[in-house]
Amino acid sequence: MSTLADLLEARTAEAEPTLVEPIERGRIRCYACGHECPIPEGAAGVCKVRFVREGRLHVPWGYVGGVQCDPIEKKPFFHAHPGALAYSFGMLGCDLHCSYCQNWVTSQALRDPQAISPPLTASPAALVADAKRLDARVVVSTYNEPLITSEWAVAIFKEARRAGLMTGFVSNGNGTERVLHFIRPHIDLYKVDLKSFDDKHYRQLGGRIEPILFTIRRLYELGVWLEIVTLLIPGFNNGIDELKRLTAFIASVSPDIPWHVTAFHKDYRMSDPENTTPEMLMEAAEIAKQAGLRYVYAGNIPGGVGDLENTRCHQCSTLLIERYGYLIRSYTIAPDGTCPACATPIPGRWGTQFDGQIASSPFLPGTRRLRTF
Ligand code: SF4
Repeated sequence: MSTLADLLEARTAEAEPTLVEPIERGRIRCYACGHECPIPEGAAGVCKVRFVREGRLHVPWGYVGGVQCDPIEKKPFFHAHPGALAYSFGMLGCDLHCSYCQNWVTSQALRDPQAISPPLTASPAALVADAKRLDARVVVSTYNEPLITSEWAVAIFKEARRAGLMTGFVSNGNGTERVLHFIRPHIDLYKVDLKSFDDKHYRQLGGRIEPILFTIRRLYELGVWLEIVTLLIPGFNNGIDELKRLTAFIASVSPDIPWHVTAFHKDYRMSDPENTTPEMLMEAAEIAKQAGLRYVYAGNIPGGVGDLENTRCHQCSTLLIERYGYLIRSYTIAPDGTCPACATPIPGRWGTQFDGQIASSPFLPGTRRLRTF
């Protein structure tokens, strides 16, 4: 019987040439993520989905681990076409191993025997046609870490751009100069999960903080629309000093970058910490505002965080977008992307009008263009 690893091994293409480099002792260095693994013949990188055979780096191709239609607010992007539908696909595997992962079925499929997620054969044309059929405005690579499957995402994004759709990554931000350079011509939106501001915490999750901070700075310089999320986990990353440093860092890149601080619910293997309370989110949001961030949101507790689900003009405080969870209740941003009261430009990617909301909760698109192995 084929294992999941066997199935995935058959679904590969050769890596993008700029993401590989032959190094000493016949190894190949991969630059798709911040690990920059030196991979010997016959072995795989930390992510377990990129591997070397006969001197070549093979990378995931031709499948998805799952597809779902999400409100763009779920990604979350709050400053990019509010109300739009985000056609969201994932592959399998991740370069970190966060015990609280909310996408563990796809991200940990090759590490955790309980995480069973059969791959579905797919093509860029079929995925994009499906996205168009459902009136999606954005195609998003998410659910697993998209950087480690960048080649496949770029193939889909090229097709999506040709069809007039926007594109995005929902990512842990463990990038490199090379991979950001590779994706930049094809990507509009990028969400980075900034999990902590402590390198020790990142090492517990299997990473380092420096590549994530690099990615945030670089994406901003490259002009990709960037929003940052921190899942607030009591006892892990909610120390006041850590939150001060984390939010000051974001503000130092730009006070216009939206920061979402979201509530942890006991999940996967991390059942020790208590759930995040609305008060904890509000305290973190206050720290962020004091650090200078202009657009601060609290998530995962709809209706429980006061005004922190809404967008207000940072200049005059006029209510611009009112939300309840992922639901848009009102929208008043002017057609030129400014505040209707004081004409201050509001950072983001806005349409000339609000086109309504196709769905305020996720739904499955159906599987008629996809088949399982
Ligand atoms: S994507 Fe990252 S973890 Fe995977 S092989 Fe490349 S450098 Fe290593």
